[in-house]
Formats: sequence, C-alpha cells, structure tokens
Amino acid sequence: MPTLLKKCRDCGTYTMKEGPCKNCNSNAVHSVYPPRFSVEDKYGKYRRAMKEKIRKKEKV
Ligand SMILES: [Zn+2]
Repeated sequence: MPTLLKKCRDCGTYTMKEGPCKNCNSNAVHSVYPPRFSVEDKYGKYRRAMKEKIRKKEKV
C-alpha cells in the first residue's frame, strides 16, 4: 500500500498532495503512516489482536 496519504496536524484534513494544507494552508502536514513513530505503539494492540484472531482461525 502506498503511503501517500498525509494529514494536517492543525485542522485534521487529509491530503494526497505535497506542500501546505489546502484547507488551512498550514505546513504541519505529515505522513499518516510514518515508518517509525509513536503511532506504532498505538496500533500495536490492534495488530496483536488481529494476529491472535488469525492464529485462532488457522487452528479451526
Ligand atoms: Zn490544515
């Protein structure tokens, strides 16, 4: 999956374009899927839960 999606930290608008936010013109636009970020931790439990689900499914 390409990581082109970006999000404005100021207004929360999602954008695919480079440069400032089209909504509020802020430069606080950052990639939604950073390779290594604290967000990783946030989704960690979901990832683990999904892993568990898949493992259980395989057993059945
Ligand atoms: Zn914005």
